[in-house]
Amino acid sequence: MGGNGTSPCASCKLLRRRCAQDCIFAPYFPSDDPHKFAIVHKVFGASNVSKMLQELPVHQRTDAVSSLVYEANARVRDPVYGCVGAISCLQNQVSELQMQLAVAQAEILCIQMQQEPMVLPSQQIDTCTDDERTYFLNNNLPQYLDFPSSSSSNIVIHDSLKREGIFGHDMVS
Ligand SMILES: [Zn+2]
Repeated sequence: MGGNGTSPCASCKLLRRRCAQDCIFAPYFPSDDPHKFAIVHKVFGASNVSKMLQELPVHQRTDAVSSLVYEANARVRDPVYGCVGAISCLQNQVSELQMQLAVAQAEILCIQMQQEPMVLPSQQIDTCTDDERTYFLNNNLPQYLDFPSSSSSNIVIHDSLKREGIFGHDMVS
């Protein structure tokens, strides 16, 4: 690892110093990508970057460097907020999309509820116990087919939906 004297790493080149065999920058800042170190040096300072890398186990240093490079680029693009600007922008997008998703799910639920009178009776009887089946056939079926007519049949339907878990979650009530 490290520089070989004849071609110093990007860091040592910029800092105009000799690139030692154990140069801490050399594995992460190759000489063919001078901008990578230049921007990190501009924002964090070479000695801070060196300290941060030394405090980390070797296997985490590559990730740390790409994070530093990302943060430095974000800071140059947006001097006030840096990468926090990008994060909060993405968080806004996420919550906006979650809201759209909730609205779409509510619409689906409404449509399903509107179609329910046509579908419910046969499904309901198929999944009933014998007692319930008899009960529905004898007492409730005519009212079922006549969906939102009487309030008592509505109560029965809502109760059944909850128990059967037709929608998979408790948005019925
Ligand atoms: Zn070096």
